[in-house]
Formats: sequence, structure tokens, C-alpha cells
Amino acid sequence: MAKRMVTLPDGTILPAIGQGTWLIGENPSKRKQEISTLRLGVELGMTVIDTAEMYGEGSTEELVGDGIKDIRDQVFLISKVYPHNAGGASITRSCEQSLKRLKTDRLDLYLLHWRGRVPLSETVEGMERLVEAGKIRRWGVSNLDTADMKELFGIAKGGNCIINQVLYHLGSRGIEVDLLPWQKAHSIPIMAYSPLAQAGALRRELVDDPVVKDIAAQLCISPFQLLLAWCIQNDDVLAIPKASTEEHVRQNAAVSEIDFTQNDLNRLDAVFPKPSRKVPLDII
Ligand code: NDP
Repeated sequence: MAKRMVTLPDGTILPAIGQGTWLIGENPSKRKQEISTLRLGVELGMTVIDTAEMYGEGSTEELVGDGIKDIRDQVFLISKVYPHNAGGASITRSCEQSLKRLKTDRLDLYLLHWRGRVPLSETVEGMERLVEAGKIRRWGVSNLDTADMKELFGIAKGGNCIINQVLYHLGSRGIEVDLLPWQKAHSIPIMAYSPLAQAGALRRELVDDPVVKDIAAQLCISPFQLLLAWCIQNDDVLAIPKASTEEHVRQNAAVSEIDFTQNDLNRLDAVFPKPSRKVPLDII
């Protein structure tokens, strides 16, 4: 069983499990533990780290910057710009402030956090300027549904978008109807957020389900690990679970080599089917 990997349109190959950071860095008493778990995650191969200027209004980026200072080159570092900052001079200012907090001279990937009032064309121009200036290596989007993606790809240089970060887990499969196939046709992977349904907080019945529990037991993993493994079964999905304990990080890293049988997948489809028709994108 090989570790699952995801290939970006520019040929960059990334491990299919990375690390989210929402709500990390907000409580000083947890700082030491959060930094050591983040570093352990990198050591275990979860080198993609996702953060945002929004998280803790900068305190999460500060923590990530401190945590990876001496291992920066091992990390594929992502941050996200607020929609209201995603144009004109603001996008450059936001990016520079993120770089400062992250204590680095470039982001590997910069994402529009969600679509706001700034026209997509202005965001694309801003992203392209940042690439030219060497402040970001590549750019993408988050929370864009199929119609938004089509609009983006109709804009000059909009096709340089390399990923779309959206909510995806076993209990929220709407993207499989049209967004995932559309992105697959354009070779643009999905980055799945909340892959653990926030430890069941979004859909408790997922981890209590007898089929989920039975398949997890057969694979000697927890129901949470099953959710994560399911999320990355598709070659075009990279998941970014957030964990702040060593045990959770170790469990998440172990998932990247798990394979389901077709029978397992069929049983999961029967209890948590994909919708039969288009549903609006699930957004947190
Ligand atoms: P997740 O689905 O990743 O769930 C996080 C929760 O799961 C935490 O409570 C964590 O607990 C727990 N957990 C982690 N690993 C395990 C495990 N092995 N077993 C049991 N519980 C576990 O939710 P998030 O919403 O945080 O999504 C992940 C990341 O996606 C975010 O951190 C953020 O980077 C990104 N995101 C992006 C959004 C966007 O709009 N673009 C929106 C939401 C998230 P503990 O912390 O105690 O380890």
C-alpha cells in the first residue's frame, strides 16, 4: 500500500493528507503543545499546512511561523486572503502581512478564502502580480461552486487557479455531483476542509453509524480515521484535518495508506449516498 498523493496542474506532487490550523494559536496556554503537534505532523509526512489571515486575526499565522521557522523548506505553506482584501493594493498588503507573521519570504499557495464583492478579475490580477513578485508560488480559491469556477476560468489567466478548497466529508457529498467532475476534467484537485466533519460536531451520526464502526473495526482504525481515509480515496482530493493532540496527529498520518475494498465503499454509499442531483455548496 503506497501513501496517497495528489498532483497539482503544475506537476507538483503533494501528500494527500495535510494539516489544518483553524482555532490553533488562539489560547497561549496551548501554544507549546500546538507547535509540537504541528511539527510532529510534518515529521510524519503531513507537510501541507493550511492557515489564513482570518484565523485568530493573525495569531494562528504567528504560531505557524514560529513552529516551522527552522523547517520552512520541508513545508508546503498555504494562507488565505479575506474576500474584502482580495483586490487592488489590499491583496498585496494582506499577503505581505501574512508573510511577516509566518516569518517567510513566500507562500507556496495563496487562496481567496471565499467569494465576496471584489470582482474575480481583480483578484486574479492581484494573485498574478504576487506570483510575478515571487511572494507566492501559485494561487487558488476556496468555497467556489461550479458556476463560480466556470466564471473564473472565463477570465484572462483565471485558468491559472490550481486548487479549490471546499467542505467535503462522508456526510456532505454534494461536490461529487458536478464540482468534483468539473475540476477533474480541468485537472484541478479539491482540497477538502472539515474532512472529519469537525470530529462529528457537524454530523454526529457519521461516527456512530454501525456500518462505519464495523468497517473501521475490520481495518483496525477509529471511525474518525475512516472518515479521513474515505475522503482521500479519490485521487484528486487532498484533505486537511486539524488536530491539536499528538495522538490525533499520529492517527491522521497513519490513514494515508489505507485502502477500502469496493464492498466497503458500496456499504458506505448505501448509508451515506451522494445526492442524486445538484445541491448548493456546503459552507461553514
Ligand atoms: P476537521 O474536520 O478537521 O475536525 C477538527 C476536529 O477533529 C478537532 O476537534 C480535532 O480535535 C478533531 N480530530 C482531529 N483528528 C482526530 C482524530 N484522529 N480522531 C478524533 N478527532 C480528531 O475540521 P476543521 O473545520 O478544523 O477543518 C480542517 C481545516 O480546514 C481547518 O483547520 C482549516 O485549516 C480548514 N478550513 C477551511 C475553511 C474554509 O472556508 N476554507 C472552513 C473550515 C476549515 P483536536 O484539535 O483536539 O485534535
